[in-house]
Amino acid sequence: MSAKEKSGHAIVLGASIGGLLAARVLSESYAKITVFDRDELPTANIDRRGVPQGEHSHGLLARGRQVLEELFPGFAADLAATGAVPLDIQGDVVWINDGHRLVRTPTGLQGLAVSRPALESYVRTRVLELPNVELRARHEALGLLATEDRGRITGVRVLPVGGDEEQRHEAELVVDATGRGNRGPTWLAELGYDKPVEDLVDPKTTYVSRNYRRTPGQADFTAFLCSPSPQQPVGGVAIAAEGDRWMVTMIAAGGAPAPISDPETYHEYAKQFAGQEMYELLSKAEPLGPPHRMRLPVSVRRRYEHMKRLPIGFLAVADAVCSFNPAYGQGMTVAAVEAAVLRDELAKGRENLQRRFFKAAAKVIDVPWDIAVGADLRYDAVPGKRTGKVKFLNGYVAKLHVAAARHPQVGHAFLSVANLMAAPQRLFAPAVLRRVLNPGTPTPQPTPTSSPTPATA
Ligand SMILES: Cc1cc2nc3c(=O)[nH]c(=O)nc-3n(C[C@H](O)[C@H](O)[C@H](O)COP(=O)(O)OP(=O)(O)OC[C@H]3O[C@@H](n4cnc5c(N)ncnc54)[C@H](O)[C@@H]3O)c2cc1C
Repeated sequence: MSAKEKSGHAIVLGASIGGLLAARVLSESYAKITVFDRDELPTANIDRRGVPQGEHSHGLLARGRQVLEELFPGFAADLAATGAVPLDIQGDVVWINDGHRLVRTPTGLQGLAVSRPALESYVRTRVLELPNVELRARHEALGLLATEDRGRITGVRVLPVGGDEEQRHEAELVVDATGRGNRGPTWLAELGYDKPVEDLVDPKTTYVSRNYRRTPGQADFTAFLCSPSPQQPVGGVAIAAEGDRWMVTMIAAGGAPAPISDPETYHEYAKQFAGQEMYELLSKAEPLGPPHRMRLPVSVRRRYEHMKRLPIGFLAVADAVCSFNPAYGQGMTVAAVEAAVLRDELAKGRENLQRRFFKAAAKVIDVPWDIAVGADLRYDAVPGKRTGKVKFLNGYVAKLHVAAARHPQVGHAFLSVANLMAAPQRLFAPAVLRRVLNPGTPTPQPTPTSSPTPATA
């Protein structure tokens, strides 16, 4: 669409990953986009109040990196130039799932190790370079404006932080990107709509995270991930990041006692892991600041796609629609794929956009939600319905982890699906299924011609 054909005003509520990506795709077809956020938005890569998860390890999956590269050409190279670490998700990462070590070999699944504030700051800078996008920080969204018959959203009510005079801003489209604590359903209810049905699962999981200094030659991996399992409900993650850091998170899942928050003994938690690399790394590395603890909130999936009545001109994206246990690091990637979906649906026109978008977004969410919630429901302490599908998939994935420790093809299939690069059917492709049902002897590995990407600063 040429600049001339752009028309109308769109408002995005929330200037975090979901809101910024929505603004980026809306900028292709709306003449003006205004993004409101209640936070003071920092100019540097620092944590902020509205995104408390920013203190915890974040990684960007392969599909997320691909979409961000499409939306912001030069994305990965620009961030790498500031210290972020591009990584081959199977070759540069130590994966231990259910106590089984996935065969490590380069496969071309490319992710990015970068802190959450740095990623957001980069995306914000690129979005604000767009001539038709304006950002209004320190403005809290209070509710929606609608036509008299309530059939169409016509704008928003916002309050400047510290002010006492509510403002009204008109727009043809309002996108709620205010994250997992959003009030979108309440705003709709105020206009006489039902609230979307919510699927809820409490993962009963606690994260305790801390940064450590990263120095050359410390480790031969860019990331280490030991996932918790019902047999051993403790795990941990260490991911290289810009600023010569390791972002480290200790995890207690399924109601297990929270990890150690004591700065002196924090690293000892990693002694329990099935692989000792993280413990060895942390016992010698220099901590940068104290550990930060977070009890993960309840995972919520809002079923907008099932609503009988929806007003024209209202969308919700990213965590405002679905937020789940970040064990597989899928949240930002889902936000990116939803932005791509929004772009595709807008390319078909604006008629019935809300129905088309929520339906297509639900398809994007299905797989990561099933993966994350299925893994949570393995723990007896996590309430929720164990359907036949959940039990079957959990049984199959447990066997798959055994096979992935012997055959790189099986690990590749698992990571392709978890990275949203392949449909879940890939896990049942004949070559994978055969090895899952009969792991047999390990597939011979070619002798490496070079050492894996070193995680050096
Ligand atoms: C501990 C933890 C670790 C995670 N690790 C990963 C990972 O490794 N990889 C990954 O991809 N994802 C990860 N995630 C998920 C990821 O952080 C989220 O999916 C992502 O941040 C969602 O972005 P969002 O824009 O929807 O919401 P948020 O990032 O939550 O942002 C919401 C924004 O809305 C603003 N806001 C809220 N209310 C209002 C209001 N009324 N008016 C105006 N503004 C408002 C806030 O200030 C904020 O800017 C993790 C999450 C957690 C909790």
